[in-house]
Amino acid sequence: MISLIIPCYNEQEALPIFYREVKKVLLSMKIEYEIIFINDGSKDDTLSILKELASADAGVSFLSFSRNFGKEAAMYAGFCNAHGDYVAVMDADMQDPPSLLPQMLSILDSGEYDSVATRRVTRKGEPAIRSWFAGCFYRLINRISDADIVDGARDFRLMNKNMVDAIVEMSEYNRFSKGIFGWIGFRTYWLPYENVNRVAGETKWSFWKLFKYAIDGVINFSHVPLNIASWFGILMTVISFFAILFIVFRKLIFGDPVDGWASIVCIVMFVGGVQLFCMGIMGQYIAKTYLEVKKRPHYIIAESNRNDADLVR
Ligand code: UDP
Ligand code: MG
Repeated sequence: MISLIIPCYNEQEALPIFYREVKKVLLSMKIEYEIIFINDGSKDDTLSILKELASADAGVSFLSFSRNFGKEAAMYAGFCNAHGDYVAVMDADMQDPPSLLPQMLSILDSGEYDSVATRRVTRKGEPAIRSWFAGCFYRLINRISDADIVDGARDFRLMNKNMVDAIVEMSEYNRFSKGIFGWIGFRTYWLPYENVNRVAGETKWSFWKLFKYAIDGVINFSHVPLNIASWFGILMTVISFFAILFIVFRKLIFGDPVDGWASIVCIVMFVGGVQLFCMGIMGQYIAKTYLEVKKRPHYIIAESNRNDADLVR
């Protein structure tokens, strides 16, 4: 059996198109399936569309969150509740082409790989500035983190049960799936494809939301920013050692006229700035730790057509 996990946030326009296409592909594959839609607190008619789909097709079920918890939480809910031998995550907007599924399945069936992941080789149709920042992010994170994060990688991948279990096992609250997939390892086949634009509706990711997501990725998968404080500390110590020598010799040679207040103010401000910056970095890590320690649920299911005993909350 194959399980498809579809996070949906305000996808009323895209959902009917997506369902029609994916159903066609699944039928042609002649395989038992379950499609799990996760309604991530949509404010439009997504939920009522999902209810209709679920009542018409026994292979469709939905989990509806009590509010918007984010795509990461929606994917986690899907992983926790998937029963298939193979599990795939897909966007509802057709940017993850369902037509790739048969090929992905046959690669997994050969038994050589544990997952088939997709990678966009183009970013056609995306604003240039967004692509540029994305490129910078991938270069940075791969230098400073030990998780292997591939540029252009989508969350769209088909995995076997072993891998899904490993993901569910990683129950951290601050989730960054691209990093988690890389961190757990397993044998992954990369399937390249050309970027496809959204069929309907709008992207839910503003630049600011993506920027914060990128910072999350760095903090969750690297400790390098914390080391910045130590390096700054060492650098400042070396500089001040030479500065002290300079001032002592100047006093011995030229006496001590009253000057240099401007340089003192500059130095005090510079050191203060560096210290605040380093404290800010530490604060980021402490905030994440605080959230992690509180052990709040990742998501809250308000409604579902699955029976209560089966639900992993
Ligand atoms: N999504 C979600 N919760 C959110 C934001 C997005 O479940 O808070 C879903 C959305 O419905 C879609 C997928 O995540 O199925 C990817 O979102 P989108 O297409 O807006 O992102 P993009 O492809 O532009 O990066
Ligand atoms: Mg999309």
